[in-house]
Amino acid sequence: MTSTAALSAPSAGAAFGKTTIERRGVRADDVQIDIAYCGICHSDVHQVRDEWGGSIFPMVPGHEIAGVVTAVGAEVERFSVGDRVGVGCMVDSCGECEYCVAGEEQFCVKGNVQTYNGREYDGTPTYGGYSRQIVVKDRFVVHIPESLELQDAAPLLCAGITTYVPLKHWGVGEGTKVAVVGMGGLGHVGVQIAAAMGAEVTVLSQTLSKKDDGLRFGAKEYYATSDRETFKQLRSSFDLILNTVSANFDINAYLRLLRVDGTLVTVGAPPDPYEVQAFALIGGRRRLAGSAIGGLPDTQEMLDFCAEHGVRPAIELIAADAVDGAYERVVSSDVRYRFVIDAATIG
Ligand code: NAP
Ligand code: ZN
Repeated sequence: MTSTAALSAPSAGAAFGKTTIERRGVRADDVQIDIAYCGICHSDVHQVRDEWGGSIFPMVPGHEIAGVVTAVGAEVERFSVGDRVGVGCMVDSCGECEYCVAGEEQFCVKGNVQTYNGREYDGTPTYGGYSRQIVVKDRFVVHIPESLELQDAAPLLCAGITTYVPLKHWGVGEGTKVAVVGMGGLGHVGVQIAAAMGAEVTVLSQTLSKKDDGLRFGAKEYYATSDRETFKQLRSSFDLILNTVSANFDINAYLRLLRVDGTLVTVGAPPDPYEVQAFALIGGRRRLAGSAIGGLPDTQEMLDFCAEHGVRPAIELIAADAVDGAYERVVSSDVRYRFVIDAATIG
């Protein structure tokens, strides 16, 4: 076991405090990582505030981890000391079920082990990336390509994979008409990835205040959803709508923006249910779908894709003592576009 500095929330919604946690000794298939950067995902906010229920406290959040390998177990072949690596939302899965075998560990039948606010299969609580060091099974570690800076790679480990997978799964390519709803952490990466895949991308944001950025990220069009005209103008326009909104909204208005056979895929995870009108689906044989993060092979593929196509998160690098304030700004949609914690400031 080794002790490492961490930022911990003692109870639901409480302010963060600096603390020390224990990491397990390096096992044969483990990789020990010095964390350099960790992104702040809105899922961290949902869980620290216990908005989804069942949160485990004290909590050390963080599932957008980038750092450097400091030790490897005897059986580890894919990583060496000094490698630049990333860890996302999962740190274990059964490895044997049909989904694990297919590289979709997020759907593991036994239930994957989440990087934080989860439990290892032996019951030990997991602590995430708002810390200086972590020990992770090698199967859940990915290589960060040379051309990606570590602080830029960090947000891709969740925001990148969560948007890449549905765009890939629903076959986005040259000329696909894609709308991205909400241009926060996930949304601003999703716009870039969809554009890099060849899609014609439209951003649907609450206001036009971020329009210039959206166009710079690769969108062709940018509309304000506070303007009801938007919903008339864009009726039956899109093949795929990627919903990244963290709060509840009138999903029917968005479903009606789909063409016949179009799909609205939600990655946004508000705590309250959506109210879906049958006729919003029936009218255009439309589909409402969901998507959860992504498996390890797709995570590596996504990082390589982003490196190659110049997809880079727009980040605001912050120190450990600024995390509480950053959460407030995330909740008020004032994030431009991902906060990343400089782990060296944790202790
Ligand atoms: P974020 O940075 O806060 O972005 C969310 C965006 O949603 C905001 O920037 C805002 O965009 C829009 N929004 C917020 N409140 C709204 C409201 N009341 N009405 C309409 N639009 C609103 O959050 P994130 O980190 O990208 O995460 C987004 C959601 O995805 C969260 O619920 C998170 O838990 C979830 N998530 C899911 C997965 C998965 O595997 N499915 C993975 C990661 C995250 P505009 O300012 O442009 O309107
Ligand atoms: Zn996340």
